[in-house]
Amino acid sequence: MKWEDNVRKTVPYVAGEQPNKAGMIKLNTNECPYPPAPEVGKLLREIDPSALRLYPDPNATLLTDALAEYYRVDPGQVFVGVGSDDVLAMAFLTFFQGGRPILFPDITYSFYDVWAKLYRIPYKTCALDGSWHICPEDYEQPNGGVIFPNPNAPTGILEDLETVERIVRANRDVVVIVDEAYIDFGGKSALPLLKKYDNLLIVQTFSKSRAMAGMRIGFAIGSKKLIGYLNDVKFSFNSYTMNLPAQVLGVAAVRDDAYFKETVGKIVATRERVKESLRELGFSFPDSRANFIFASHKEYSAEQLFRALREDEIYVRYWNKPRISNSLRITVGTDEQMDRLIASLKEYQDKRRRCPE
Ligand code: PMP
Repeated sequence: MKWEDNVRKTVPYVAGEQPNKAGMIKLNTNECPYPPAPEVGKLLREIDPSALRLYPDPNATLLTDALAEYYRVDPGQVFVGVGSDDVLAMAFLTFFQGGRPILFPDITYSFYDVWAKLYRIPYKTCALDGSWHICPEDYEQPNGGVIFPNPNAPTGILEDLETVERIVRANRDVVVIVDEAYIDFGGKSALPLLKKYDNLLIVQTFSKSRAMAGMRIGFAIGSKKLIGYLNDVKFSFNSYTMNLPAQVLGVAAVRDDAYFKETVGKIVATRERVKESLRELGFSFPDSRANFIFASHKEYSAEQLFRALREDEIYVRYWNKPRISNSLRITVGTDEQMDRLIASLKEYQDKRRRCPE
């Protein structure tokens, strides 16, 4: 027997690359192109380093309270973590441990199958329909839990609340997680359903609409019972997941609702404008309600376009995977960034028309 026989072997999730070049345009990991709320910057400069001698509040009370107040729920219904990846990983560990397979869409956030494999949770994927929508009837088979993002990633498609409720209602015997990482860009949150369903867990993040991907803050809202179980597992794993600056700065971000709405409004306006420009260039895409557009071109392959953009120092996301290998996921940046993207795509088309390969 070798020591390696005792190692937990797993194939890790591959995050989008994080290049750091002057002048580059980074549209590959759905970050916010605008800074966080002004108070976040102010507090960051004012944090007293001697406060870092002590462990942070393991319950992140200030942050859970601020979120509870903002979303009008009881503080006992809120759980916070180090980005929603941490919250989701903890939720997989807590809620998905039955013998039956958990269900999620075949095209979705590619971390779900990684956690399932890491924790040895059996899973089954349900194919999206021809227009990339979830088929709710697929989630009406015996299972050990359900998870899906709404809007979905990388398609950007939003399901209406009736579809979400149908899935939750059909699965009262397991936990249903709705990953709302992108809900602030035009979707209706499933939060009102919490009044009816104690098996529903809603997960959101500060990484996109609140412009704080670098601070790593995510949270879940659910029934007190669900959150209690989640806390039991978290406190069996790592009591101090959230560092002190994240707790303090997270509160500041939640408190500035006007800035939050203004930022989201700008991104949505840019997204709609970019949809028009992309259409004019011959792209097609599902009607995104997120801060990205999942676009494919009628003449040029996604891989060609990905490479051409990269040469111009414009980074978008491309997956060489079944069903999605001919689409690029383009994060919505500022108007100026998107103008450069459109100009680069136009230039590529002109060049190809002049001298086809
Ligand atoms: N869920 C979905 C659907 C995502 O696309 C992402 C971003 N990669 C996350 C969760 C995790 O985001 P974070 O950990 O930054 O909150």
